[in-house]
Amino acid sequence: MSPQHEAPRSAEGRRTDLQADCADCFGLCCAALPFARSADFAVDKAAGRPCSHLRTDFRCGIHERLRDEGYRGCTVFDCFGAGQKVSQVTFGGTDWRRAPESARAMFAVFPVMRQLHELLRYVDEALGLAAARPVHKELRRALARIEDLTLGSPESITALDVNALRGEVNPLLLRASELARARVPGRRKNHRGADLAGARLAGADLRGASLRGALLVAADLGGADLRDADLIGADLRDTDLRGADLTGALFLTQAQLNAARGDAATTLPAPLGRPAHW
Ligand code: SF4
Repeated sequence: MSPQHEAPRSAEGRRTDLQADCADCFGLCCAALPFARSADFAVDKAAGRPCSHLRTDFRCGIHERLRDEGYRGCTVFDCFGAGQKVSQVTFGGTDWRRAPESARAMFAVFPVMRQLHELLRYVDEALGLAAARPVHKELRRALARIEDLTLGSPESITALDVNALRGEVNPLLLRASELARARVPGRRKNHRGADLAGARLAGADLRGASLRGALLVAADLGGADLRDADLIGADLRDTDLRGADLTGALFLTQAQLNAARGDAATTLPAPLGRPAHW
């Protein structure tokens, strides 16, 4: 696929093929992935065993009541469009119920494809940052390369060293982030990889801060200024974002938002949506 490939985009500019489309997926997250009984899941489920709530049409039988039934984890999961790619492209639209002999391979490809699509999602966002123009050429090259990898055979995809690939792409994303945040006036805080679980940061000035990979579980960021902050990989489970301003926040995903707490006063970056449970 050429770097000039025109992928479908939302009104705000992000690629729509990097967003989950459950209607075109064979319920892969509900069959391929394991989960353990916890605050996020009501029961244990082994990898490769379809969830008991997965209907024959690959829809969830308790979709409207997931949180009430103890499946909060399902409401914060995002495949970044990997489900429909594996279902419709890698396996050509033939599902694992009709072709059970393909189930094992399909379930093995899905978690790898999810990581590839997550990377594509970040690179796509970086390409939308005007300030990151100095690295756009390299980002376009990386995008094309990852795209090609997603179009490989099941065997080639499962054999990929995604960690090595991530190690190549991360410096580009970091550079894009630095270029974008350099426009923010004043001193920008660096909390990269910090353990801020439960921290009291209500009203904090974190504009343009690096919170890359920060542990922010149950932290109080109510009313915080997070404009243009880099939140790639930050753990936002139960983080209080009520009244926080996330305008222009970088590399924030819908899954991160879904795991956090917020309210009508939380300002979100386009094109992310307000989670239904806020
Ligand atoms: S509860 Fe529903 S969404 Fe969650 S794994 Fe089962 S079928 Fe999928």
